Amino acid sequence: MPRHFNPTLSDAVELLHKAYDSGISFFDTAIEDEYGDSEAKIAAAFRTKWDSVVVSSKARAYTRESMEASIRGSIERMQVPYIHLYGIHQVSPENVDISLDPKRGALRALLDAREQGKIRGIALGTHHAAVAAEASKLDCISMVQLPCNPLEYGLFDTACEKGLVLEKAVFHKVYGAGILPALIPTATLLSFAFARSPVAVLVGIGTERELEQLLSDYQKSATVDPQPAPLPHSECNRCQKCICPEGINIPKILRYRAYALLGFHRWAAHGFEKNYTVQCTQCGACLSTCPREVRIPELIAQAEAWFADLAAYNERPVSVLQKAGRLNPPERHPRVGVGAVVLNDANEVLLLLRRKAPERGCWTIPGGAVEFGETIEDAIIREVQEEIGVRCGITKMLGITNHILPGEGTHWVAPAFLVRILSGTPRNMEPDSHTRMEWFPIDSLPSNSTMTTTEALRRLNLHLSKPLWTQLAPRP
Ligand code: SF4
Ligand code: SF4
Repeated sequence: MPRHFNPTLSDAVELLHKAYDSGISFFDTAIEDEYGDSEAKIAAAFRTKWDSVVVSSKARAYTRESMEASIRGSIERMQVPYIHLYGIHQVSPENVDISLDPKRGALRALLDAREQGKIRGIALGTHHAAVAAEASKLDCISMVQLPCNPLEYGLFDTACEKGLVLEKAVFHKVYGAGILPALIPTATLLSFAFARSPVAVLVGIGTERELEQLLSDYQKSATVDPQPAPLPHSECNRCQKCICPEGINIPKILRYRAYALLGFHRWAAHGFEKNYTVQCTQCGACLSTCPREVRIPELIAQAEAWFADLAAYNERPVSVLQKAGRLNPPERHPRVGVGAVVLNDANEVLLLLRRKAPERGCWTIPGGAVEFGETIEDAIIREVQEEIGVRCGITKMLGITNHILPGEGTHWVAPAFLVRILSGTPRNMEPDSHTRMEWFPIDSLPSNSTMTTTEALRRLNLHLSKPLWTQLAPRP
């Protein structure tokens, strides 16, 4: 259940029952920090028929102690006699030794939990071919989750070459973290995955409409050609065979380069920054290790230049790529920008004072542009995280503003959402864009607000001045 939907307990239970009635009996989740309260919702839906489903949960816990605590927490949250499968999330070459150490590692805790009947099987999730293959050979591990999609199928192929036990393989990231459906039909993505005969394919759903779409795609996938047309800029298939003596994670860097060129600039820039700590010396040592003859140093140098340019000028990669002649020049067309009315328990709204045009010097709600292929719900959660550093959940959509300011050359279509903070304390994360951040009482808002903010707050009053208002702010 993607976090942006954040369905109520009853909506979640209803959706899960519909999925079950449609023939889906395997549900994957993770501990609270990672997947919100999804564990509790799945347990609520199936507690009375626990033996007729398979539920897997997981934790980014690598030591015995941390895994013991995670299993304990999951059982308490779910209030079930046992969990069908429990696993170690994101096992990598850096943590695999401790994770699978049968004395001190997470594996010890999982073996003990299985012995004590708290879990029935042990699972593991990874983005590394060698880890997937080696873990699948361990008798005690029942399921290995690994990604498989048209941009990174090389990882699965390499895992197979290394002896992956296919009977334990479950695919995740079949939609490429939600990015590929903008480029390839979802039925084809499912067909692509099923053609490789995994035990199961995991797809996140958050609404009834998504469930219906998934079921329809599943039906179609049996007849759809499993091989989509090759995506541009997909020279690298993430086979993970390249070796860099400088320690550069080549497959990851090339993946972000591909996503940037496919239009997902912002996401790619963020990933590049996180994973690229060593500069390529252009030594060429990696070239002899790549079976696809990818021009690795050249492509890395390109990506390095684009993203360095981005960091230096605080520009979005889109403009960098436009300068490099790799994207069409911008046309004059409306853009989509989302905004969030963040309301606290004291009925105060959080606003930011704009440093830049348009509407420089006006107070605004947090928000920003929707990226290509991104849902407006994902966009607002991302923007809130980026601008004020908190994780939020959507309460409802308030309405849409036609944000047209001919004098400033501005035309945005601007949906606004009412959101609540799920974790974190707000702070001004973009001082270059906003001079101040303040909470304002709902009945004492500043007069100099942006057009979208004024409209969003008008709609907030329309919606919340009635019964829901008192639910949000109970008064004596
Ligand atoms: S060319 Fe760059 S990426 Fe390739 S091995 Fe040398 S430093 Fe590493
Ligand atoms: S650069 Fe070549 S070797 Fe490295 S992951 Fe990509 S395809 Fe495989």
